[in-house]
Amino acid sequence: MKHTVAVLAGDGIGPEVMPCAIEVLEKVIAQSDIQLDFQHALVGGAAIDETGKALPEETLRLAEKSSAILFGSVGGPKWESLPPAEQPERASLLPLRKHFQLFANLRPALIYPDLADASPLRPDLVEGGLDILILRELTGDVYFGEPKLRRGTGAEEEALDTMIYKRYEIERITRLAFESARLRSKKVHSIDKANVLTSMVFWREVVTEIHKDYKDIELQHMYVDNASMQLIKWPKQFDVVLCPNMFGDILSDEASQITGSIGMLASASLGAPGSWGSNEHPFGLYEPAGGTAPDIAGKGIANPIAQILSAALMLRYTFKLENEAKKIESAIRKTIGQGHRTGDLLQKDGGKSLSTKEITQKIIENL
Ligand code: NAD
Repeated sequence: MKHTVAVLAGDGIGPEVMPCAIEVLEKVIAQSDIQLDFQHALVGGAAIDETGKALPEETLRLAEKSSAILFGSVGGPKWESLPPAEQPERASLLPLRKHFQLFANLRPALIYPDLADASPLRPDLVEGGLDILILRELTGDVYFGEPKLRRGTGAEEEALDTMIYKRYEIERITRLAFESARLRSKKVHSIDKANVLTSMVFWREVVTEIHKDYKDIELQHMYVDNASMQLIKWPKQFDVVLCPNMFGDILSDEASQITGSIGMLASASLGAPGSWGSNEHPFGLYEPAGGTAPDIAGKGIANPIAQILSAALMLRYTFKLENEAKKIESAIRKTIGQGHRTGDLLQKDGGKSLSTKEITQKIIENL
């Protein structure tokens, strides 16, 4: 089967690390029965320079006929003086998320055993590595709920947001959490604030109902304030962490910081079932968790691993190629285990740093 993948490298280090991900993908899928047709288009600042728009029509049309978007990152000092609504991130990533109804954000927070020193946590807490999957709902909650307004004057002036969830929004993300847990260690923590918020009582009820279809998965409910403490205190208790939008926004950043290495973290945003893609090949946008790293862009030293891992997530979630995704992940693990590092991963005591291209070649050798 042949599928189109829209490759939107973007700005800064995006165009440097994207070819690494494509090279790894081409090597891995050569042995599978799927064919990927990589088609490139402009996005972000590069697209503004060329066409005046951060998300040109042509790019959107390409994405629409694709099964997935492999995204680099967008933005940089050159475009920071533009009005906020025209800035690369706001004017390309957000419209893409909206257009494709991306409802779930998956952010693996990984600490490789050989990189445990990079974590700000006490060594005994992360010894042997860490592997947590934060699953954040993206369409509901207080960010989009109506009414959202300001009113009144003087001491009575007030501002209002509405925390609201629809049943279908909770159901689809909960099913994804349990399905993801089946590929991992069969454990889900569902995060809420059911002791105070009506919408979160509802969240807990619906998660519990859906759990009846997934009796093989262990489910634990946890209040968000406790979860934020437990992530620091005993991170190894977590595997899949299912979060409403706002709590996921906060906890996913907390989890990424405890790994200590932004150049190693990928993320996936998946489309709502039936909106784009098919049940067999759900649409997704796959990208590194970090930004365009303007301080090192153009030097050939960026860590390509986050981009390569985002390609592995694409194989797992859109193309259901679990073995191929694992192959990429274990090649990266092996490369790190052999002591190969880009500059961002070197410890205080130094060592030899590899360029973007050199570490990619090591990963390819280890595939
Ligand atoms: P950043 O993630 O780009 O950089 C933060 C630090 O991490 C820098 O020191 C950088 O060198 C380092 N870093 C990040 N990725 C790395 C990699 N792969 N290899 C080695 N080092 C890496 O965050 P920032 O500096 O806050 O943002 C820079 C630009 O990126 C801004 O314009 C911002 O708007 C944009 N941004 C875009 C996205 C996106 O496209 N999704 C996300 C975040 C930031």
